[in-house]
Amino acid sequence: MKRVAIIGGGASGFAAAITIARKSKDFTVTIYEKLQKPLKKLLATGNGRCNLTNIELSPADYFGDRAFAATALARFSPQENIAFFREMGLLCKTEAMGRVYPLSGQASAVREILCAEAQKCGVQICTDCAITNIQTQNGGFLLNGEIPADIVLICAGGSAAPKHGTDGGAYRLLDALGHTIIPPAPALTALECADFPKSLKGVRQVCDVTLLKNGKTVYAITGEVQFTEYGLSGIPIMQLSRFVATEPNEKFSVKLNCLSGMTAPDVAAFLQTTVTENPQKTAETLAQGILPQALGNALLLRCGIRKDEPCASLTKHRLARFSEESTAFTVYVTGVRDFDFAQVTAGGADCREFDDETMQSKRIKNLYACGEALNVDGGCGGYNLQWAWSSGRAAGESIVKEFSSDTHS
Ligand SMILES: Cc1cc2nc3c(=O)[nH]c(=O)nc-3n(C[C@H](O)[C@H](O)[C@H](O)COP(=O)(O)OP(=O)(O)OC[C@H]3O[C@@H](n4cnc5c(N)ncnc54)[C@H](O)[C@@H]3O)c2cc1C
Repeated sequence: MKRVAIIGGGASGFAAAITIARKSKDFTVTIYEKLQKPLKKLLATGNGRCNLTNIELSPADYFGDRAFAATALARFSPQENIAFFREMGLLCKTEAMGRVYPLSGQASAVREILCAEAQKCGVQICTDCAITNIQTQNGGFLLNGEIPADIVLICAGGSAAPKHGTDGGAYRLLDALGHTIIPPAPALTALECADFPKSLKGVRQVCDVTLLKNGKTVYAITGEVQFTEYGLSGIPIMQLSRFVATEPNEKFSVKLNCLSGMTAPDVAAFLQTTVTENPQKTAETLAQGILPQALGNALLLRCGIRKDEPCASLTKHRLARFSEESTAFTVYVTGVRDFDFAQVTAGGADCREFDDETMQSKRIKNLYACGEALNVDGGCGGYNLQWAWSSGRAAGESIVKEFSSDTHS
């Protein structure tokens, strides 16, 4: 019997463990999880609903080593993943933009199904057990100086959301084993901005968002922006945070068209008509016709327009300036919110040192790494969990193929 040690009881660890234990009886499979319970992070995913994959997924939704990720993602696709959960008794539903959730709408269902399946297949789960040291010996491994293993999978995640058990432990283990670690940076997190109007806290507005690096467009996306006391958040902002985080020495700014899809001349024409017909209105009331009150007032202030000014005093030039500001509100980015607030890690173990079909290390035989521990990160929308399932599955299948004498489907 080969002893398989899986470090980390998260998404990729469970995918690998179930794949191995289901397909062959030639292994003892043990998950070592540092927290009291496995899959704690899964409960927080998708705002407690677990966006477990995305049926519109393509390699373009990934960053880091996208080409490396493409192989495992193609071999265990979102559709196969949905079928895998179905076999275990979990039905899923697809929502806007291809996002897939459990039909129950509860992340806890995904966790329970995975735990039940692991138990059914005979996977041992050893909790409260952080692995902090891995030594190689006689073609095998010794964990924490006392646990022998023939095959080791590092599925211990990244550095994002340390309260869910992921504090970069995977990188420390892989680094000590001689692997290169591409500097980890927080991704899918909020942006901190300079001189940000505090009055905007709590405002939500659908905007066309453009990230600029040294004045040049890096990324553009439309979605609901959340304004906070420190800067910007919401899905479109989180999507672009990895670019800022991975190039901390560059100067970034974000341009917001707060009137998504409209141009400054469109807005100016509309405002001019309103002003002509309602000269007694205040600037604040005029702005309220197109924007949330706090946002309108902040933009008026930036244009030097007092909110109690009568519309009659707003010249064509001043209206044009306000229209410009509303469609191209530009803020300077000072940084990203740290790992405590991030959903995923950009960076990690250099994929070039691993086999893209098997997730096996090219440096140390019988060592594997999966999920966020590797230099692959996806956008918001189920992409990161799919990477965890696909890479865990790839490692599991390859282990069964390489070491098993007797395989069961
Ligand atoms: C709030 C939040 C919401 C998210 N929502 C989504 C979403 O809806 N859809 C999506 O696709 N992605 C989402 N993600 C990202 C996704 O959860 C992760 O990318 C994914 O879980 C990574 O899988 P993994 O197996 O690599 O690691 P993880 O699932 O992070 O699991 C790693 C496990 O290893 C354990 N561990 C760490 N170090 C050690 C050690 N030394 N010894 C033993 N155990 C160790 C940890 O405790 C943890 O249980 C979200 C993340 C967060 C934080």
